[in-house]
Amino acid sequence: MRNLRCFLCPRQCALPPGAKGRCGVRVNVDGRGEIPFYGFITALAEDPIEKKPLYHYRPGSNILSLGFAGCNLRCPFCQNYRLSQGTGSPGTPLPPEKIIALARDRGFKQIAYTYSEPLIHVEFLLDCMAAAREAGIANVLVSNGFVSAEAAAEILPLTGAVNIDLKCFSEATYSKVLGGGLSAVLAFIEAAFRGGVHVEVTTLVVPGLNDSDAELDAAGRFIAGLSPDIPWHLSAYHPAYRWNAPPTDPVVLEAAARRAQGVLSFVYTGNIAGGLSDTLCPRCGNPLVIRRGYRVDTRGLILNGAEPADGYCCSRCGSPVPFRA
Ligand code: SF4
Repeated sequence: MRNLRCFLCPRQCALPPGAKGRCGVRVNVDGRGEIPFYGFITALAEDPIEKKPLYHYRPGSNILSLGFAGCNLRCPFCQNYRLSQGTGSPGTPLPPEKIIALARDRGFKQIAYTYSEPLIHVEFLLDCMAAAREAGIANVLVSNGFVSAEAAAEILPLTGAVNIDLKCFSEATYSKVLGGGLSAVLAFIEAAFRGGVHVEVTTLVVPGLNDSDAELDAAGRFIAGLSPDIPWHLSAYHPAYRWNAPPTDPVVLEAAARRAQGVLSFVYTGNIAGGLSDTLCPRCGNPLVIRRGYRVDTRGLILNGAEPADGYCCSRCGSPVPFRA
C-alpha cells in the first residue's frame, strides 16, 4: 500500500493508505487516488443567474445549479457550511449525460457548478463541462479559486463565466484562518481573465477579519489592475458556523464600495437591503440594468449587432458596455 500526495490544490495533502484529504473528498484507497463522490450531487436547483452572483453575464436568465460535497478551505464564517463542510452525506449520483438531458429538457442554456467547492470534483467537472459544451450549454463556475495552475489550465477553457471568491487580501489570513493561500487565488483570477472567461469577483466582508480600508482597497486595486470592467460584489456577512461577530455594518460595506468605484466601473453590494445593485452606464449614468431582489430589468441595454454575441451598448448614449451573452 502506497502513500500518495494530491496536487489538485496547493494544500498538496499527504494521503497515507485509507486517508482522506483535507477536503474530505479525495481518498487513498489501496494506494490509488480515488474520488468516491464522483458525480454525487448534493443540491440541484434552478436559480436566477444573479444569485451566483453574476450581474454581467446573460442578465435576467435562469441557470441549472449543481452542488457537491466538501471544500478545500475551512472558513470559520462559512455562510454555506452545511454543504461545504459536510461529506457524511455525499448526495445522489447523477451522471453527466443525465444532467445534460435534464438541462435540455428544461430549456437551460447554462449550468452552474456552485454552492460548495466544485473544483475538488475536477474529474467530474471536466466530463460534465465537456458534455455541456458539446450540447451548446455554457458552463458557469462559482469557486474559491484555490486550485493548482495545472487544474486551472484544464478547467478554464471549458468555462464560460466564473465568480471567484476573493476572501481577503492577506496571505496570513488565508493561511492561518481559512486554510488556503492568497497568491493561488489571485493567480486563478488572473488566469481566468487572461483566458477570456467572463470574470466576476465576490468578497464577503467579515468584521474584524478583512474589513480594513487598506485591505479592501488593495483587493479593489488588484482587480482593477486586470480590468476596471470586472464586476466586484461586496457582500455582507451574517453570523454563521463558528463565527459570532455581528453582521457587516451596511454603512461600512457601502463606504468600501464607494471607494472601490474610484478604480472599478462596476461595484455592487449584496446581502443587505437596498445598496448598490443597479448597473449604470459609466459614460452617461443611464440605468442599464435595474435589479430588485432577483427581478431584473435590462431595458437600458441594447444589442450592438444582430446577435447577442455582438455585445451590448447603452440605450441612451450608445457606448459599448461590458456584458456577455
Ligand atoms: S484537493 Fe483535497 S486532497 Fe487534494 S490537496 Fe486539496 S484539500 Fe488535499
